Amino acid sequence: MYQPNEEGFYGEFGGSFVPPELEDVLKSLKKDFYELREKDDFKDELAMYLKDYVGRPSPLYYAEKMTRELGGAKIYLKREDLNHTGSHKINNTVGQALLAKRLGKTRIIAETGAGQHGVATATVCALFGMKCTIYMGAEDIRRQELNVFRMKILGAEVVPVTRGTATLKEAVDVALEEFVAHHTDTYYMLGSAVGPDPYPEMVKYFQSIIGREVRQQIMEKEGKLPDYLVACVGGGSNSIGLFADFYEDSSVQMIGAEPAGLGLSTCKHAATLSAGKPGIIQGFKCYLLQEDNGEVMEAYSVAAGLDYPGVGPEHSFYKDSGRAQYVTITDQEAIDAFLYLSKTEGIIPALESSHAIAEVLKLAPTLSKEQIIVCNVSGRGDKDASEVFRILNGKLS
Ligand SMILES: *Cc1c(COP(=O)(O)O)cnc(C)c1O
Repeated sequence: MYQPNEEGFYGEFGGSFVPPELEDVLKSLKKDFYELREKDDFKDELAMYLKDYVGRPSPLYYAEKMTRELGGAKIYLKREDLNHTGSHKINNTVGQALLAKRLGKTRIIAETGAGQHGVATATVCALFGMKCTIYMGAEDIRRQELNVFRMKILGAEVVPVTRGTATLKEAVDVALEEFVAHHTDTYYMLGSAVGPDPYPEMVKYFQSIIGREVRQQIMEKEGKLPDYLVACVGGGSNSIGLFADFYEDSSVQMIGAEPAGLGLSTCKHAATLSAGKPGIIQGFKCYLLQEDNGEVMEAYSVAAGLDYPGVGPEHSFYKDSGRAQYVTITDQEAIDAFLYLSKTEGIIPALESSHAIAEVLKLAPTLSKEQIIVCNVSGRGDKDASEVFRILNGKLS
C-alpha cells in the first residue's frame, strides 16, 4: 500500500491547507487514529461490525453471461451493492464511528450533497447511539427530499445551509466551522477519500477491505491476480478501496472511470482527473475542475454521487505517476451500462457504479480469454430507478 509522507502529501497532492485552530484538531485526530488502528481490540470490534452488521465479506461474483457475450476477458464483479444500506459507504462510516466512540465523542457531524453519505452516517449514529447532525445545502435538501427523510427516520437532525450557492461546498464550510467550535465532544465524519490530512488515509484504511477481500477471493477462484481493476471515481473512496492493496503488484492495471456527463466539451461533467488542473479545495491539493479565472467549476453527472469538482489526492498522484489510468464515461454510456447489467446479470447497479460497468463493456472485448477483470459494483441501483424512469420517459424497448 502506498504511504503518504509525514505531512500527508502524496507526491505534490494532499497535505493540509486549513486554519491553525483546525490544524491542531486534525493533528491530534491523526495521532489518535494511527494509535488506535494498531490496537487488537479496535480491529476485532471493527471486524465484528463489518461481518455481522454490514454483511462482509461481499461476494466476488463471476459474471459468466456477460463474459460470454463480450467475448474477451473473464469478468468478476465485487458486490459492494450487497452491503447493508446498499453501497460501500458503510465500510467507512462504521470505521470512523467506532473511532469517534473510542475517542469519547458523543456527537457526529457530516455534510452531504446527494444524501448518500448522510444516510450512511445517520445509520451508524443510530447503531452506536450517537447524536447526529447533517449539514446540507438548502438547494440539495429540496432535490434530495427522500434521502433527507431517510436521515430523519434514522434519528438525525438535518440542518439546511443557505449561504452562497446553498449546496455541498457551503455545507462543508459550515461543518468544518462546527467541528472547530465543538471538537471536544464532536467528530467530523468525511465521506470520501478527500479532505485535509489525515482523512484520505483514514478513509482508504476503512475502504481497503474491498481490495483485501478481492485478493483472497480471486486467488481462491483463479489462483492468480487479476489483470485489471475497474472502479468509478467520484471523490475516489470505492476505487482507492479496491486499488490500495494491489499498489505494489505491477502486473495489476488500475482503471478509474470518471463521469463525462453530457461530454467533456460541454461544462456539464465531473471528469476531474481528465479535465482538471491542480488546485486547492477544502483544505487539500488535488486535480480540480476550474474555470479560466481559477474559480472552482460546478460539477455535474447523472450520478449524484460522482458530481464533486475535486478528487482524492492519492488518485491525483497515481494519475501523474502513471500507476492508474483514468477514463471518462458519458451519462448516456452509464445509462446503457445500467440497463445492460440489469438485463444480462439481474443486477441493477447504482448509476455511479454503471460508469465502471460501461468501461468494462469497452475493455473486455479487447482482451484475451485468459485475462481477468475485477469491477467494483460500488452500490445498488434501486435508488436510481426513478431517475432513469424520468430520463427514459418511462419507456423501455
Ligand atoms: C458516493 C458513491 C460513489 C462515489 O464516491 P467515491 O468516494 O468515489 O467512491 C460511488 N458509488 C456509489 C454507489 C456511491 O454511493
